[in-house]
Amino acid sequence: MISGDKQQGATHRDDPPAVSAVSDGTAALYIHIPFCEKRCSYCDFYTVADRHEAIPAYVASLVREMELCAGQPFWRQQQFSTLFFGGGTPSLLTPDQLHTLIVAARENFTFCDQAEISMEANPGTTSAQHLVDFARAGINRLSLGVQSFDADELKKLDRIHTVQDVYRTVEQARRAGIGNLSVDLMFALPGQRPSVWRRTLEQAVALETEHISAYNLTVEPGTPLFFQIQKGETRPLSEWKERTMFNFTIDFLAGQGYSHYEVSNYARPGFHSRHNMKYWDGSAYLGLGASAHSFDGQRRWRNVENYVHYIRDLEQGQLARTGEEEVDMAKRKLEMIFLSLRVRTGLSLARWTELFGTEFRQEYRDILRLLMNGPKPLLCEQDGCIRLTREGLFLCDSVCEQFVAEQSISASA
Ligand code: SF4
Repeated sequence: MISGDKQQGATHRDDPPAVSAVSDGTAALYIHIPFCEKRCSYCDFYTVADRHEAIPAYVASLVREMELCAGQPFWRQQQFSTLFFGGGTPSLLTPDQLHTLIVAARENFTFCDQAEISMEANPGTTSAQHLVDFARAGINRLSLGVQSFDADELKKLDRIHTVQDVYRTVEQARRAGIGNLSVDLMFALPGQRPSVWRRTLEQAVALETEHISAYNLTVEPGTPLFFQIQKGETRPLSEWKERTMFNFTIDFLAGQGYSHYEVSNYARPGFHSRHNMKYWDGSAYLGLGASAHSFDGQRRWRNVENYVHYIRDLEQGQLARTGEEEVDMAKRKLEMIFLSLRVRTGLSLARWTELFGTEFRQEYRDILRLLMNGPKPLLCEQDGCIRLTREGLFLCDSVCEQFVAEQSISASA
């Protein structure tokens, strides 16, 4: 039965997992590999299809970027606890290229013992030998872009893999000794039936991966899917169906022993994504590669979103950075609200006072009164933290927008 109408009220107790949204002081390293076999219909990440010939020069540029960043005192002094290869499709790298990057990262930066080293992989792009070699190169966590276990849905999304590829890849990854596997799934696809989503979740759970990410599809302007919807070739799912699937996901995965530790993420005990937690707990992170974002605690910047320009700048011995901005106190407060509310433990009231010297409940009393009351409260207070309720989880973006609006009103008053 789909329990989509289950609501969590402000006073309902729903113990959050033991995942803290308070940084342990270590940093995260992200490496963006923008290359893909083919572009998926819904994708708006910075990716380039069918340009594999550029990968060797791109890898050499990443190594140069590491050397340049390691020359900066801030990054040289950091202890990194995670390294994440994201994309794009990092599994298009050869094991030698991946090995080169991991060795360069270890030579240029200081890593903690037992660092989490993750790689995103497309089930259609790996072989048994590659997975053995990736594990030997140091990969200890693999995040598979599965999206669906329904052949028709995979086709509509323009994914290059089949359901059989998923089973094969998981088995090969286990045999390669990778003990921490995650699958990415997507719901609220146009025309998706709840029963098909349920089968996808059942099949994912049957694989016994340590981690599951379940994202609701966002139709981004400019994507092929966006134009298909504009032309009336397909219709987005209703909000009611999306909400039903979201609630079903939470209840189903909880029943299978996965703790819901972030809006879209579920893990067996101890297997939350340490890398993604670094973004949500406000840690510093260094992003390398075209379009990658960085944050050093005071400033944010990103790299150019063009792999040709990125390679050219690095070949000339320059960083390819753009869009640097200071994160002032007002932005820092909003970011802490957005990021810590996403995590199920929520925003720690004591931590807020420690960081900003103010009382959160007092500072945002009008908006909290609004969001914590009414027939379907979106926020609740529990164990010294402000947390999203079940309804608030579904409406997370709109809750955050209301804090932005509140802050603009206070600033102009
Ligand atoms: S494989 Fe991933 S990054 Fe590449 S086009 Fe598809 S969704 Fe985008």
